[in-house]
Amino acid sequence: MDGPSPDIRRMRWIRAGWVCPVSGPPLEDAAVGVEDGRIVEVRGGRFPGGADASFPGCVLLPGFVNAHTHLELTVMRGFLEDLPFPEWLRTLTRTKYEALSREDLTISARLGAMECLRGGVTAVGEMTDVGTGWDAMCELGMHGVAYQEVFGPADAQADAAMASLEANVARARQTEAGARRVGVSPHAPYTVSSALYERARDFCDANNLPMAVHVAESDDEVRFIRDGDGPFAEGWKRRDIPVTARSTSPLGYLDRLGILGPATLAVHAIHAGPDDVERMAEAGVSVAHCPKSNLKLGHAIAPVLDFLAAGVPVGLGSDSVASNNAVDMFEEMRLAVYLQRSRAGDPEAMNARAALEMATLGGARCLGLQDDLGTLEPGKLADFVVVEMDDPALTPSYDPVDTLVYSASRKNVSATYLAGERVALDAGPTIDEARSIARRLAAP
Ligand SMILES: [Zn+2]
Repeated sequence: MDGPSPDIRRMRWIRAGWVCPVSGPPLEDAAVGVEDGRIVEVRGGRFPGGADASFPGCVLLPGFVNAHTHLELTVMRGFLEDLPFPEWLRTLTRTKYEALSREDLTISARLGAMECLRGGVTAVGEMTDVGTGWDAMCELGMHGVAYQEVFGPADAQADAAMASLEANVARARQTEAGARRVGVSPHAPYTVSSALYERARDFCDANNLPMAVHVAESDDEVRFIRDGDGPFAEGWKRRDIPVTARSTSPLGYLDRLGILGPATLAVHAIHAGPDDVERMAEAGVSVAHCPKSNLKLGHAIAPVLDFLAAGVPVGLGSDSVASNNAVDMFEEMRLAVYLQRSRAGDPEAMNARAALEMATLGGARCLGLQDDLGTLEPGKLADFVVVEMDDPALTPSYDPVDTLVYSASRKNVSATYLAGERVALDAGPTIDEARSIARRLAAP
């Protein structure tokens, strides 16, 4: 080749034994050129000149996009084991509001963000209630969308709920930047009235904000929406809130309310029948699939293959560690493949490449950030994960993507880059603070 152009001289090169761009096949002995936090070039094969950072024996891939997190709830890891879902939710809510201060939730969210970064997650679809999830994303330079949650099952609560939503969104938007954005999340059909859904929808439309909703997660939710009975209905009745049988699925109900659109992320969407899949594809909705959380809470298996076949973008999410216990995108990829193979009764139903795409580009699509994140292509942000393959459990490796999906874990992540900068974390003080919060929570 000719001598490097002036542009290339300004560029920094990060080399690795393998580079998996996701947008194309893995490249052996390759390098990524970075300038001003963005990818300028991805080059395979040996070429003259050194590298600014070199990771021989490693795989470099796009930073994982964890499409569904609740960073604020990280200190509840292991605190709610083995409870039935409605009670799990009640205990979680009570603890969040009655036992944890804002300072506690700041530490909790920071711990969660550190856990993500250590495990190669560079962007999140965060559900934030008190706002500390957003603060942690800003503090640590993570990308993604923080969806400000809003709750209110009774129609009469809608005014107050909207006032606090608007104030929280206005506060968060002051620090919005590039690929770190603010959205809105009316929490779930069993915590939000139809009036509040409609007002949240209008607010999002007027302010061009993306929306994320928990939907079609449990049998209890299906019963509540369709028939107006079950544990969620009993909870509403105890609070004198009238319950209406909607005679449709949770997704059918949200469609009726005008919630489903191209800027809507449906979280879980487990109980999505053929009609639901069709309405989601038509509306341009995307899905955050949370395999490990769904399994742990004893929920069913989402029809991911149906979504993909219909062209519905699917990303992978961990959900909160209160229902997941460890943010490990390798485990999520693996479980996503296994669950679909089991559901279809077919070992060819999904492969490792499809899972890696969901954990990166799929998640980026869910968040509407596919122009910035999800693949190693010129123009996108230089957010990477470096996975150390020098581990007996990853040896031998016949195909780097198969090894990443079927054998690797978060423990194999040796470096994470955000906008071209290697992330350096001192998690020690945050771990100590979180342990002291946990001691307080566990005290009788
Ligand atoms: Zn969730």
